[in-house]
Amino acid sequence: MSTHLLDALGRPLRDLRISVTDRCNFRCSYCMPKQVFDKHYEFLPHKELLTFEEITRLARVFVGLGVRKLRLTGGEPLLRRGLEDLVAMLAELRTPEGSPADLTLTTNASLLARKAAALKAAGLQRLTVSLDGLDDAVFQRMNDVGFPVAEVLAGIEAAQAVGLAPIKVNMVVKRGANEDQILPMVRHFKGTGVRLRFIEYMDVGATNGWRMDEVLPSGEILALLRREFDLRAVAADDPGETAERFAHADGGGEIGLISSVTRAFCRDCNRARLSTEGKLYTCLFAHRGDDLRGLLRSRADDAMIAAAVQAVWARRSDRYSELRGAGQAPVAERKIEMHYIGG
Ligand code: SAM
Ligand code: SF4
Ligand code: SF4
Repeated sequence: MSTHLLDALGRPLRDLRISVTDRCNFRCSYCMPKQVFDKHYEFLPHKELLTFEEITRLARVFVGLGVRKLRLTGGEPLLRRGLEDLVAMLAELRTPEGSPADLTLTTNASLLARKAAALKAAGLQRLTVSLDGLDDAVFQRMNDVGFPVAEVLAGIEAAQAVGLAPIKVNMVVKRGANEDQILPMVRHFKGTGVRLRFIEYMDVGATNGWRMDEVLPSGEILALLRREFDLRAVAADDPGETAERFAHADGGGEIGLISSVTRAFCRDCNRARLSTEGKLYTCLFAHRGDDLRGLLRSRADDAMIAAAVQAVWARRSDRYSELRGAGQAPVAERKIEMHYIGG
């Protein structure tokens, strides 16, 4: 199988984000606002979900096509029962060069203290935790289910204790909601080995009521940080990297800025997303995906599935954030939701 698959804008396929559930035990207002995702909301029934065997088969095909990074996400991935079994299956995959794929997970950490050891034993290498503040009142307003900060921190500690590394912490910054947590978060994680990254609040989906004036541009975050910390820019490890990285000059570790709104990084975007029920999306802001589950459940062999993925990738020309930045974002159809497709 070719490892030089390029899309219509010359971008390779390197990163596959796999959503393992559309459910979550948080109701972050920027992702699953309570008014929409209430007790009447219909999540996918179990039979619609890809099985672990189906996910692994697809992941194998994607790795054969050049994918080097597999990220499990959701919804809240740790809500999917037996997730460590899927981790173990994915950890067995090998690239055409014979190396394992870079296998990671994004989680709200609510179940991490309980699951860190099993995930590590199954072969997970590292993980990303989402945490939007250190102050309980602020964080509980952000997660909107009254979940305490202390349990997330306990999850992070458990992950560090079992040797998952590096651990990244993502903080979505929403102006007027949690920007007063930026400095306390940097102070807290400096020197701990945890890489804190600030993410600009994005206009994903159609339910979060996004407004540009609630975005705190990364440039403003950096200016704020530089008043207290001596930060030096660090070169990116690879061209598809989403974060601009900065190191504390005194050796206290790194922070990152993910400027999804103010500095679009579509030009190097090498990410594909697989939804919980097996649709392939080539952009976070897509409004439709290509069904792979139908193929999996037909008699198609791996070569046929690979050909279908190749065809989708070859015609990919998505660059939503760049167009939004240029004031040309298409407003037409309903975009997919973040909890369904993962971050
Ligand atoms: N539930 C897990 C979690 O929160 O880590 C995984 C799924 S969540 C959809 C993945 C990431 O997307 C999280 O870091 C979350 O903060 C981020 N996210 C969700 N909605 C967002 C938005 N509107 N703008 C920016 N980031 C967002
Ligand atoms: Fe759940 Fe993650 Fe979305 Fe928050 S960001 S509602 S934790 S899926
Ligand atoms: Fe990639 Fe789409 Fe985000 Fe651009 S807008 S970086 S193409 S996911």
